[in-house]
Amino acid sequence: MIALPTAPRAPTDLTGLIDLRKVKADFALPFNFRAIDGAFFVSTALGDWIILQPAEFQALCHGTVAPDSPLYARLKERNFIAAELDLQAQARRWRDKHQFLFYGPTLHAFVLTGRCNFGCQYCHSSIVGMTRTDTDMSIEVAERAVDMAFHTTSPGLTIEFQGGEPLANWEVLQHIVEYARQKNALAGKALSFSLVSNLTLLDEEKLDYLLDRKIQICTSIDGPADAHNKQRIWKDGDGFETTTRWMRRINERYQEVGLDTNLYRVEALPTITRPLLTRARDIVDTFVSLGCRALFLRKLDPFGFAARSAKTLGYSMDDFMRFYMEAVEYIIELNKQGVEIMERNAAIMLSKMIADTEPNYLDLRTPGGAVIGQLGYHPDGTVFSSDEGRMVAAMGDNAFLIGSLDNSYQELMTNASTRALVLASTNDGQPDCVSCAYKPYCGQQPEYNYKTQGSIQGRMRDSAWCRKHKSIFDFLAHRLKNADEAEWQMFRRWTTNRSQEHFLQERGQI
Ligand code: SF4
Repeated sequence: MIALPTAPRAPTDLTGLIDLRKVKADFALPFNFRAIDGAFFVSTALGDWIILQPAEFQALCHGTVAPDSPLYARLKERNFIAAELDLQAQARRWRDKHQFLFYGPTLHAFVLTGRCNFGCQYCHSSIVGMTRTDTDMSIEVAERAVDMAFHTTSPGLTIEFQGGEPLANWEVLQHIVEYARQKNALAGKALSFSLVSNLTLLDEEKLDYLLDRKIQICTSIDGPADAHNKQRIWKDGDGFETTTRWMRRINERYQEVGLDTNLYRVEALPTITRPLLTRARDIVDTFVSLGCRALFLRKLDPFGFAARSAKTLGYSMDDFMRFYMEAVEYIIELNKQGVEIMERNAAIMLSKMIADTEPNYLDLRTPGGAVIGQLGYHPDGTVFSSDEGRMVAAMGDNAFLIGSLDNSYQELMTNASTRALVLASTNDGQPDCVSCAYKPYCGQQPEYNYKTQGSIQGRMRDSAWCRKHKSIFDFLAHRLKNADEAEWQMFRRWTTNRSQEHFLQERGQI
């Protein structure tokens, strides 16, 4: 297992390897590097990377790579040699990977209610009891929020139903779906819906509607039954049994309507708390037994109740990374035995590193997703930079309130807060990111920086966010350096992005 980096990480000592007087600055494209297992992981802003032995790295810096050498061929293939670069082709490639810069937010998180029938120990949403119907989104606010979402200049948009428990405000959920479909008859956007729910308020009638309207369904499973029920507290029954029963039922229904069950399955996410850190294998086994093909190992966020329960549920990022690496190594072991399951953090990063694609995962892109990639709509008609932004507001701090449904779309997109968030979440404007070898694949979340370090810029060398991502990148760089053909094949499979066309609403129809 690769060692965790020390914090702050000492700069790699290049004394004796690189002679600054001999550096040939125009030989290669500007690059960043990082020591991995006695070698160097070297990357350019285009996203190309290569692993070089010290002598090779020296030759790159000194510009002494012989044009007929195998190293020159490798560097040329990875677009490192300035004189060999096809600038036009690389500009097109960069543009293709940064399509998201050319249009507005794609993800529109609708908080349908503050109510929830669960009392999860770590709840990020700062929920209220089931009687508080005053926290529900009204039909009027819902329609105005849909109108705002359709103003996006993006050719596609996803309306995500959040809560509380969004099924508690079922009528408004249905109204949003019908109203948005109607609007889309004219707008013709790539429209999709997703529901994030604990599934316990589901019944066959609601499920019929969700399937008929092609609404993607996501839920939470925190590992085996005992662990799940202990932290996701539901006083009306066995939460694990009920949620997993519905997961199986939904998967069955996908199969009945002829969907490819390798692609269409209920997505479930665990939230990793301190008691789960010793149960990496149990968690993976639970997801495998539920037929999941993906596992997104999500750390505890500093929002909502999670911030207040950090003393009992929290952990250091090093503890999380030890857990993470144990889990992913086990996942790799299972894949080698023929079990197909992937870890999503790794899959997103690998998509950028080895598949040369940009999955537009909002927390790991630059600039980040705040406002220009997503908006969060509160039931009272206020609009936040993201779902996390409205969670900060639920804790009594409106730092990420960027306006309301009374504002125009243009006002939301161009106001001072939005511009500040875009600047803060741009890696090229971050002192540590700018010289980081993982910069082309990494991203920022200003809400996280603000909550943990007191400013939207944060300070990456002391940041748990940076530490997590750098450690996962180190882990992956180490695995890629030492991977055999079978492991490469597995990683390539993890990055094969088959789009779920079924969840797209038919354009121009109601
Ligand atoms: S957040 Fe950390 S890992 Fe990511 S680019 Fe910045 S310095 Fe590198």
